[in-house]
Amino acid sequence: MAILKEITSIASVSLAIGENWTVRRCRYRSDDGAGGRLCIATGIHGDEKTGQLIAYDVARRVKNEPHHLHGTLDIYPMLNPLGLDLGKRTLPSSTQLDMNRSFPGSPEGTVMEIICHHILEDMKGADLVLDIHACPQIAAEIYGARLHVHEAEAMIEETRALCPEVIWVLPDKPAYNATLTGSLMRAGTKAIGLEADSRTEGTQRASDQVVSGIFCKMKEMGMWSGETVAPPASVPVMHGARDVARVTCTRPGMYVPVECIGEQVEAGDVLGVIIDALEGETVETVVAPAGGLVFTQRRYSCVYPGTLIARLFRKERA
Ligand SMILES: [Zn+2]
Repeated sequence: MAILKEITSIASVSLAIGENWTVRRCRYRSDDGAGGRLCIATGIHGDEKTGQLIAYDVARRVKNEPHHLHGTLDIYPMLNPLGLDLGKRTLPSSTQLDMNRSFPGSPEGTVMEIICHHILEDMKGADLVLDIHACPQIAAEIYGARLHVHEAEAMIEETRALCPEVIWVLPDKPAYNATLTGSLMRAGTKAIGLEADSRTEGTQRASDQVVSGIFCKMKEMGMWSGETVAPPASVPVMHGARDVARVTCTRPGMYVPVECIGEQVEAGDVLGVIIDALEGETVETVVAPAGGLVFTQRRYSCVYPGTLIARLFRKERA
């Protein structure tokens, strides 16, 4: 048994500066007639680079064990190559548009709308689409899955085999409909947003964790017959406004974190300080408002009044 490998341009638009914005897909398909299809998309935000390594690691394993693949695996490693080149979250242009707020797009719209339209059309009909994100350099996050509140009930069980450390059920927001996962779900194609672990600088470790979950999920889908980890019996689920404490700062300055990403803290524990380097003073000590798991934490960076410093999964709800 062999696998077929095929690289296709699924969207390409000429830009004014003589370049092209092209989105490519690499397809691995088994020749055993198995019908399942999984899409792995990443790079929609150009400042989140861990997805590149995840795409590479998944492909490498499939190529090393081709007889274990049953079905079609589509990898889209660079949805926003222009942003990736420059390390920018948004589309590098005067308008700074977020590609993940531009779906479903339109075949006759702007460059961004055309690209988004073709991406969506290409992924429609898959059994599952995984949209992989990671933290930019100013923040750290544990490996989690994000589901929309209206779809959570149907999707929590689907998500478990991906082995995230938490499932975060996001409250309803109009912007969700303009995301890749939101547009796919509306079109009847199951999709899950994943946030790769970036609590440490160990990019390989972060990739290993997500890749291990992807193969576990592929096995559950009947698409992989090789060895995988066992799916967890359950994954903690946190509901947006109810279970999550947002910690913000009230003063501007430079935030110096006390690293506690992935750790349980108690109410009053110090999460970091905000300093004024010119005056040589601490202008604010940021503390946990409640006990819980720190699943997002800002890294050393400039902050302003109201900047998000951390998110806690409240202990009493866990
Ligand atoms: Zn992202």
